[in-house]
Amino acid sequence: MPAESSDKKRGGGGRGRGSGSRGGGGGRGAGGGGRRRRRSGPPKTESSSSDDSEQQDSAEQEQPEDKGVPVEDCAFAEFNLKPELIQGLAGAGYKTPSPIQARSLPHALEGRDIIGQARTGTGKTAAFLVPALQMLSDLPGPRVLVVVPTRELAMQVASEGKKLGRFMDVRTLAVYGGDPMKKQLDALDRDPKVLAATPGRLMDHMSRGTIKLRELDMLILDEADRMFDLGFRDDIDKIMRNAPSRRQTFLFSATLSDEVLALAARYMNDPARVFLAPDKMTVEEVDQSLFPIDRASKTKLLIEVLKREKPDRSIIFTRTKAGADRLAERLQKRDHGAREIHSGLPQNKRERILADFRAGKFPYLIATDVAARGIDISDVSHVINFDIPENAEDYVHRIGRTARMGKRGRAVTFVTPEDGQFLTGIEKLINQIIPECRYDGFQHTQQTQEPEKEKPTGPEYKRTLQGYIRPRKR
Ligand code: AMP
Repeated sequence: MPAESSDKKRGGGGRGRGSGSRGGGGGRGAGGGGRRRRRSGPPKTESSSSDDSEQQDSAEQEQPEDKGVPVEDCAFAEFNLKPELIQGLAGAGYKTPSPIQARSLPHALEGRDIIGQARTGTGKTAAFLVPALQMLSDLPGPRVLVVVPTRELAMQVASEGKKLGRFMDVRTLAVYGGDPMKKQLDALDRDPKVLAATPGRLMDHMSRGTIKLRELDMLILDEADRMFDLGFRDDIDKIMRNAPSRRQTFLFSATLSDEVLALAARYMNDPARVFLAPDKMTVEEVDQSLFPIDRASKTKLLIEVLKREKPDRSIIFTRTKAGADRLAERLQKRDHGAREIHSGLPQNKRERILADFRAGKFPYLIATDVAARGIDISDVSHVINFDIPENAEDYVHRIGRTARMGKRGRAVTFVTPEDGQFLTGIEKLINQIIPECRYDGFQHTQQTQEPEKEKPTGPEYKRTLQGYIRPRKR
């Protein structure tokens, strides 16, 4: 493979498992005395898009404006990271490590395997990319592989790698399906060190021999639970089996099912456990409500929510692609700025819609679950479940789109009389009763509506996780 960079900056070379190469020359003052970026142009994050310039454009747009902090204020220096990496973190505005970062970095930098429970929005991407960049070897071939469930997440991880590694000579490549193979092969020839790949396309490259896992130093499985949900079980098994046994492995998942834990037991070496909130599946910062509604009145209720709550920026979830299309059209007819995003749209279009949403060009993104995975937009004020998710874990993922990195957020869920079982599944999973909300002067359900069979009426009954109960009189 032709070597891409002529001026590799890192010394130190390879890293054996556990050696960790901590240090890298002292963190403080990296901005002053540290080496400056040598490339004049923007750093490269490879993409395998069919249209390079288009891809470049959207990657540029998606890259948030740097709200950098002075290097001296960047508490990551305490981890004794390479000066160029601290510069990257400071440039990205990362002043203090988030809880998942603070708790996993010490283990990761010692070379330990890590199993982490953290949802998207907690800073888990940097929790694995910082050690990956710190300990990156100069040897040829991809050294770090991040396996992710969706192309959006692959692009997002690559983009975060670009942001944090911009003062280092590191190529990061997003490898995902739906793009011409030729383009990807050319990008792979340029010796990317960090790959963020979806399982299907990765398997394709593995069988062609264009990505070889045997040189890997680090293997990261991100959103492992989601990969199981999407049916990548066998692929993941194969990837794990093909990676060298001396690798360092990180496994991150929002939920830790038996299946995820079994995977860790089979393929990881005494992993450090970093569980952020083992008993609580949703974040405190999300203000959750459910709105009872008849199916036929959902759009009317949505308009009412938009009118009364005035969300700055909202992701509205529908169950199907057709539902997303229909809803976007209805909102557009009423002059609400709404666009739909789902897997039926071409990749370029999805990227553009996301970039426009990020840039604040329209306030309402109508999304299906698959399309919304991995969307990293920090200022979503409202998540609206226009259709309640049938899979309880999707609820956790959906509401994780708001209240990111400590901000407050609101999650509103429409519940029709037919949705009772899904609501019960969600409340059991999150171990919370979602408070019911009704708007004064708005007809949520028809008066003629039969009451739910198991739902007794009367003010003295309370909805609990065990069903409706009547508190004992003292
Ligand atoms: P993630 O959970 O990795 O998707 O990260 C969510 C958002 O938080 C992303 O926009 C990150 O760039 C940002 N972020 C991650 N770590 C930090 C940090 N320590 N300080 C500030 N922002 C961060």
